[in-house]
Amino acid sequence: MSRRLTRADLDALPSYVPGRNPADLARELGLTEAIKLASNEVPYGPLPGVPEAILEAATQVHRYPDMGVLALRETLAARLDVGIERIATGCGSVALCEHLLKAATVPGDEVVFSWRSFEAYPIIAATAGVTAVKVPNKADHGHDLDAMAAAVTDKTRVVFVCNPNNPTGTSVRRDELAAFIDRVGPEVLVILDEAYREFVTDDEVPDGLTEFGDRPNVVVVRTFSKAWGLAGLRAGYLVAQPEVADAVRKVVTPFSTNACVQAAALAALRAEDEMERRAALVISERTRLTEELRKFVPDVPESQANFVWLPLAERSVEFGKHCESRGVIVRPFPGDGVRVTVGTPEENDTFLKVAAEAGL
Ligand code: PMP
Repeated sequence: MSRRLTRADLDALPSYVPGRNPADLARELGLTEAIKLASNEVPYGPLPGVPEAILEAATQVHRYPDMGVLALRETLAARLDVGIERIATGCGSVALCEHLLKAATVPGDEVVFSWRSFEAYPIIAATAGVTAVKVPNKADHGHDLDAMAAAVTDKTRVVFVCNPNNPTGTSVRRDELAAFIDRVGPEVLVILDEAYREFVTDDEVPDGLTEFGDRPNVVVVRTFSKAWGLAGLRAGYLVAQPEVADAVRKVVTPFSTNACVQAAALAALRAEDEMERRAALVISERTRLTEELRKFVPDVPESQANFVWLPLAERSVEFGKHCESRGVIVRPFPGDGVRVTVGTPEENDTFLKVAAEAGL
């Protein structure tokens, strides 16, 4: 038998599931358009000034980008009130999670995270050759921080806390997170994944950076993909202690924050007021969707993100198919639940109508 060219253990790995393409679905169903509520994007287009910044940067794309990403890191450092040496950027925050594992672990180490959580965690753990220790969510669909702390062993190098959690929208509170970080101890890297931070309205949900960012083992990861509207360009950043940020910058694929991304992220940051206005629309629609959906599914958890979670268990796939057959793409997680991204008010109306017809 010939020797295989790639790692056998990757065969068992689930592939990252991207949301279905709405244009394809619309064509299939003979509709003028389909609605995509599957990938947690904000539906209002790029922020003002962003397309122009990309066009301008495009005139220089025969040159390599600034590898140090200085202008963007300086701007972020000033906004977040941290030293620039504490910031690293990457091709989406998912790449930064990957780089953090590369920087902090060797094969055979363990990484602890709550499950169900962001679907990339098991994939990046497996590709790094580390053992994923998945701690089941509590009955309320949130992280079980006690059980997560108890799952830490002397092999654990990294713990992910996804706050708010994708896909359940739940969040951990200030006091429990503080106690958790204390209990985990200083020798484990605690990654606070705050991809949805801009949508948080509950005062009890801490800003990981201002409240825990100065601890030596805490890393806060954020993204431009959601509230800042740059999902298609790929930009994320992290704030860590200088040694950790430095290690990440060493393992990042060179030039992975490209020139158009750097310009676009800077332009997006200049449009902060508009970002906040749009986030407020999403937040008010989130409340409406949650209230309406609870009429069919009483245990929809409170969401602090830009999506809601329907814990439909065995009915998840069927509900996803029903929505898709009516031109609305949602994200079912088989046997578990369905995640629905908050869209425009009109999109949400359509979804609610379709959901009401599902006979839940
Ligand atoms: N973290 C969480 C919790 C997410 O939900 C996502 C996107 N789905 C990411 C990180 C990655 O986002 P990006 O790579 O687009 O920055």
